[in-house]
Amino acid sequence: MNVELKYKSILVPIDFSDTSRKSFYLALKYAKVFDADTYVLHVMEPLDTFDSSSKVESHTDEVAQVEGGVRRRVNELFERAGLAEVDRRRVHVDIRGGKPWKEILRYASEIGSDLIVMGSHGQTSFKELLMGSTTERVVRRAAGHVLCVKPDGYEYDPEKIPAKYKEV
Ligand code: ATP
Ligand code: MN
Repeated sequence: MNVELKYKSILVPIDFSDTSRKSFYLALKYAKVFDADTYVLHVMEPLDTFDSSSKVESHTDEVAQVEGGVRRRVNELFERAGLAEVDRRRVHVDIRGGKPWKEILRYASEIGSDLIVMGSHGQTSFKELLMGSTTERVVRRAAGHVLCVKPDGYEYDPEKIPAKYKEV
């Protein structure tokens, strides 16, 4: 039984929702405490046009554009006060395409992540659901620990939880 409190490789998947941005800042704090590397991952979900081979070229442009946008947005997150002392050489930014939960898990095993820090909610964000489907699938399958970060102001209210989730 391994109960050592130590993380070396922290993965923070972000979809740029508020809760994932909060997870990003928290992950950097964990990385500092544990002297760990941080891996920031954004997964682009394939667009419908992906299937059409005639559009491959314009599609490559589109991917490059989205990638540029993602890197810019991650850089913007770093501009927040208090991050000056973060060692950027130990923060890796990657972009993958596919189903977010699958790519997050694939990436986690590639980097040997021992901690995933992710939001309970993302872009869709129905707060009355206990957690989004990406996080639920990752929590169920990940080999390492998963820290599920709640949105600010989240409160447990049994009356508001849909019946199908009450027994879980
Ligand atoms: P759902 O997608 O099930 O309709 P949701 O968008 O509110 O609901 P999730 O997708 O589970 O919830 O998002 C929860 C967390 O998962 C986010 O805070 C983020 O950490 C991570 N995540 C979601 N989508 C992506 C993505 N495309 N790339 C990277 N991380 C993601
Ligand atoms: Mn989502």
